[in-house]
Amino acid sequence: MVKVNTKLVSWEEIVEWSRGLAKIIKSSGYKPDVIIAVARGGYVPARLLCDFLMVENLLSIQSQHWTEAAKVAEKAVIKFQYSIDLNGAKALLVDDIVDTGESLMLAKEFIVRNWRPKELKIATLQWISPVAKIKPDYYFIEVKDWVWFQYPWTRLEDTCQFIRRMLTEEGKSKREWYLGEIIDKFREWYGIDVGMEYYKEAIELLIEEGLIVRSGDKYLVRV
Ligand code: ADP
Repeated sequence: MVKVNTKLVSWEEIVEWSRGLAKIIKSSGYKPDVIIAVARGGYVPARLLCDFLMVENLLSIQSQHWTEAAKVAEKAVIKFQYSIDLNGAKALLVDDIVDTGESLMLAKEFIVRNWRPKELKIATLQWISPVAKIKPDYYFIEVKDWVWFQYPWTRLEDTCQFIRRMLTEEGKSKREWYLGEIIDKFREWYGIDVGMEYYKEAIELLIEEGLIVRSGDKYLVRV
């Protein structure tokens, strides 16, 4: 029984989706002078769009979700608020996915107010339509049921987070784990397989963190 709806996205799919997105933008007639990647998720799609749309100018803005300590509410903030002049430029703001849409809305607001481009449009690979507060001007895939997309550029971070969550829960009733058992449980919880290198690296990081300790060929969960 899968506990978290997750879909593994390959590098090949990212290239294919970016190519498809570029075609949609091109056929709309919009020709951006500059692409702005939303850090960090928008970096790879933005770079690929530069290639497929033959755009030379690539900038970035970091809009991030912060969880305030002891609060359930999260708010998005612009991390490095530098100033540039985009006066006269047609800009394209690029991100991987619109989930809640909050970080993108904030980035758009900041850019329009402070960088003042002539025009600003939003392009994302994916758009989770039932939960998103905004609809991007261009998107390649409309997602109708919420899923966590395990993108190739967050594979280690996600694997770490996924194993941490799983072992914190499962470790309450089972403290000792073989590597194979961790991997089987991971597949059961998330329904995906990230590959041996990622499991091993994530486990090393969780050992450094102190969540688990190595004991011979087993791992002990410290809960
Ligand atoms: P946005 O403001 O673009 O809707 P959020 O603020 O909800 O996005 O999330 C910020 C970033 O978190 C996204 O750009 C993406 O990198 C990551 N993210 C959010 N939701 C998902 C998801 N369902 N699958 C994979 N990554 C996600």
